[in-house]
Amino acid sequence: MNDVSLNDVLYVGIDDTDSQEGMCTTYITCVIIRELKDCGFKIQDYPRLIRLNPFARFKTRGNGALTFKLLVDSNEDVEKAKKIILKEVETLSELEEERTNPGVVFYSGRITPEMETYSIRTIQNIVSIEEAEELANSIGAEFFKFKKGRGIIGALAAIGCPLPDHTYECLAYRTPENRGTERRIDHESVREMNRQTYPETFDNVDDGYTAIEPHTPCPVLYGIRGESPEAVRKAHDIVEVNEAIESYCIFKSNQHTDMHLQCIDKISEMEQFKCYIFEAEVSQNPHVIEGGHIIFTAADGSGEIECAAYEPTKTFRDVVRKLAQGDKLRIYGGIGEKGTLNVEKFEILELAPTYKTLNPLCKCGKRMKSAGAGKGYKCPKCGEKLREAEKEKIPVPRDIEKGFYEVPPSARRHLSKPIVRMGEKKNLK
Ligand code: ATP
Repeated sequence: MNDVSLNDVLYVGIDDTDSQEGMCTTYITCVIIRELKDCGFKIQDYPRLIRLNPFARFKTRGNGALTFKLLVDSNEDVEKAKKIILKEVETLSELEEERTNPGVVFYSGRITPEMETYSIRTIQNIVSIEEAEELANSIGAEFFKFKKGRGIIGALAAIGCPLPDHTYECLAYRTPENRGTERRIDHESVREMNRQTYPETFDNVDDGYTAIEPHTPCPVLYGIRGESPEAVRKAHDIVEVNEAIESYCIFKSNQHTDMHLQCIDKISEMEQFKCYIFEAEVSQNPHVIEGGHIIFTAADGSGEIECAAYEPTKTFRDVVRKLAQGDKLRIYGGIGEKGTLNVEKFEILELAPTYKTLNPLCKCGKRMKSAGAGKGYKCPKCGEKLREAEKEKIPVPRDIEKGFYEVPPSARRHLSKPIVRMGEKKNLK
């Protein structure tokens, strides 16, 4: 790593410390920052929580990596800080879990275009440990691998991530004795917080229920997401809980920026484990499959893809069911394990006319009935028979309008931009 001098910045990246059973890299980062501050170090700006490709194979939950900027005055400072950071990562990581493979990256210097490109690739594609190592070596970053050290992929991506759009999240942490037990959050206070701070904070409640609360045994008590540090801090002050809060920390993030989505013109060029924005026409009407998932097919000139609103998207499925063949859509979503596109939101650009078909009318004015397979129609009133007649097509008014539709907060991907953030160019600097 390069030599440092007065007030230089040491970038620290950390990833892959937790498991399904517990811990959280954001929490480890908070503990590290607290210890560094206790030792007299200063942190520049907010620590950053960077979400990476939601389809990365080895993710635990939300594929988040962490980074912060430490001010250092000398090489001795760097060595002291590294010791503290590596010791805490080693102590607090769930190392006994096979899938936990922490990585820590230290870097001093300017963020290069290569680092930014790599970071965006890690958010939109799949990358290898070798690629991360190669880049780290070429820019003079130092990396530490625990076990397989897969975490260096995310740690390096977090350091280099450009944030043209960003949000903030205030994470409050539980004391050790409460972890794994039911969270004691005053739900009415969350609704009050939402009334006072939405849309500067968002995704707080879902159909009246608390959405800021995770449902895993991790140390997080709640997370409040919003447009500014002030908004999430204010919201945090309003929320009441009936258990001790060990600490809280505000992170700057790429959450809810749609950074994972790539615009693409051709369905035929889409690849699995990538997320896209594309325009297409509904080519097969939505239908329900086992498990309550709704599936429809979207096509453009180049090909077609099966699109899904899965069961956890709840009320979103009711909207998707209203789509009809010929509707023109702009679809936002990613292609998962089964090759089906998981719809995060869509915009209806044009609604196709829909019809119901009825048996022909008899000249006496009565609607005719089928006379049996292949035998045409018969009038139940006057007995008139028609061997060959066209069914009548009656236009049916559509029960849906043009515009944006999205999954509810409980089913939203961390990176997915809620519609409430789409109108204005928020936080774009
Ligand atoms: P949590 O959100 O609870 O902190 P997580 O879902 O972030 O956990 P990790 O434990 O961090 O999951 O594991 C994700 C692993 O996948 C890390 O080792 C990370 O470096 C790696 N990874 C992240 N993005 C990619 C990618 N695009 N391609 C390949 N590997 C990736």
